[in-house]
Amino acid sequence: MSNDATTTTDEPEIRDCAETLRELDVFLDGELSQHQQDAIRHHLDGCMDCLGAFDFHAELKIVVAQKCNNDEMPPGLLGKIERCFGTDFDGDGKIG
Ligand SMILES: [Zn+2]
Repeated sequence: MSNDATTTTDEPEIRDCAETLRELDVFLDGELSQHQQDAIRHHLDGCMDCLGAFDFHAELKIVVAQKCNNDEMPPGLLGKIERCFGTDFDGDGKIG
């Protein structure tokens, strides 16, 4: 079994649910390479579990961003949400 990480390949690297969900936040931030995005989309096409999690994260992120911009978020709530998801929703570089 070769484990040569230097081998370049055009095959998508992201193949399982755990890895897809791990890349989810980066994907939503648009910071993945086109190749990685394609791999995630390909996985989501065939996996309802990840698709559900992905949709939820994507919608939540949009709603939170809107509320941040509109000042509708009660003080402290954003921090709770960020800690819950481990995601920096408002883009201030810190969680909580
Ligand atoms: Zn999956």
